[in-house]
Amino acid sequence: MPDGHVTVSNLVKTYGSGSERTKAIDDVSFEVDGGEFLSVVGPSGCGKSTLLYLIAGFLEPTSGKIAVDGTPVDGPGTDRGVVFQDYALFPWRTVMQNVTYGLEEQDMPDEEQQATAQRFIDMMGLDGFEDKYPKELSGGMKQRVALARTLAYDPQILLMDEPFGALDQPLREALQDNLLDIWRDIGKTIIFITHDVEESVYLSEKVMIMTQHPGKKKAVLDIDIDRTRDREAIITSDEYVERRNEVWRLLHEETEQSQHL
Ligand code: ADP
Repeated sequence: MPDGHVTVSNLVKTYGSGSERTKAIDDVSFEVDGGEFLSVVGPSGCGKSTLLYLIAGFLEPTSGKIAVDGTPVDGPGTDRGVVFQDYALFPWRTVMQNVTYGLEEQDMPDEEQQATAQRFIDMMGLDGFEDKYPKELSGGMKQRVALARTLAYDPQILLMDEPFGALDQPLREALQDNLLDIWRDIGKTIIFITHDVEESVYLSEKVMIMTQHPGKKKAVLDIDIDRTRDREAIITSDEYVERRNEVWRLLHEETEQSQHL
């Protein structure tokens, strides 16, 4: 039974060749248990997106290994769903058609495709918008469609690249709470890239902090806080503030160092 366990071993990614070579990821190893929520934070340009695209199978490692439930990753697959910051919706398809997209590849009868898509459209609060086109939607709605599209084909692992980075604060918070509800309900592994320390601590069970370029693993912190309370109670709790300050401290060490280069 696949459970979405991700193993990253001695991962190295170098872009380009000759004098144009850039080492983006430098010997990174970590594991994410099935159903676990890991955030990755680090200074801009430290290799966060590169790491995510390697796990997605969009890029090939220069050396090292990535495995999902023990099977080496050798390209994209439906066990991993990627959500991008800029939504990546198909502008010529309606909300419903965007959400059924991944299901069309599977051998699923039309009616079942529609019913499955509708379930995720409803889950994301998009009921009534099925026939709208992306250009008719706000940023928050577009990201809900992108999430519904990814969830509909039921990947065991969600790979999210600053998915709420383009949204203003109230929308961002609403989508964070949506995502937490979904994660609790359907128990997927989530690897979530963000540069927002508060977002990482609010959402995830573990936060991995990366060093400045070239990206290495600096630390992984357990964020074992009680998330059954409402947002206000969580973000004002001593345990939350303590962990947020610790992530900040580690991240500031990196950004200060890069300013001295
Ligand atoms: P982050 O997501 O943390 O901002 P990226 O993964 O986008 O970092 O980039 C890591 C490093 O790799 C940066 O120095 C960036 O300039 C470089 N880089 C990213 N993509 C490419 C590419 N396609 N070709 C060459 N260098 C790249």
